[in-house]
Amino acid sequence: MEKLSALVSDFDDTLFFNKSALISAAKDLYETLLKGKEEDYKTFKDLEITIGEGRVPKGFNKKWKSELYTLAYVKYKSKLSPNLPFINYLKESVKQGNDLVILSARGEEFREQTEEILNKYGLNYSKIILPANHELNDEDWKMLEVKKLSEIYNHIVLFEDKEENIRHIIHNLKPGNVEFYLVDHSILTYITH
Ligand SMILES: [Mg+2]
Repeated sequence: MEKLSALVSDFDDTLFFNKSALISAAKDLYETLLKGKEEDYKTFKDLEITIGEGRVPKGFNKKWKSELYTLAYVKYKSKLSPNLPFINYLKESVKQGNDLVILSARGEEFREQTEEILNKYGLNYSKIILPANHELNDEDWKMLEVKKLSEIYNHIVLFEDKEENIRHIIHNLKPGNVEFYLVDHSILTYITH
């Protein structure tokens, strides 16, 4: 069977920016926790960081983390904003015959919302790969999925907004048939091995 080339793209902050959705979700959760008897000082501190910076700090309370992401990706999904130059670039590449694979650690629980917005922007993907559970950390999960893909496809071009994810894959996997690009809005930076 002839193998194809695939464009493999991360979702959050690569294809769609989630900062504003995360900020709304954090404000929402903050209000909820204030009303309850939750007195976890660190959770409030971390939520303040998310409200201020639109990012989830490492070590964020596990119980509230999934609540936070559910608010961001479901309740506030309309606040996701598209990285249009990059989306248009991918659409052109798909027209030229490349497979588009979406590889996101956001989780199987958000498949419906993920499909919905990809379809809305006309991204003709071959498949969406999401973790069924969050047993592995995101970096390791992604690395293993890239390994599987590199065995299916002759050539892969991977797009990702987190340089540490790219470095983690390069360092541990040393894949010969994968090219890596760091995505920052419309700027794509080639990352060498
Ligand atoms: Mg990302």
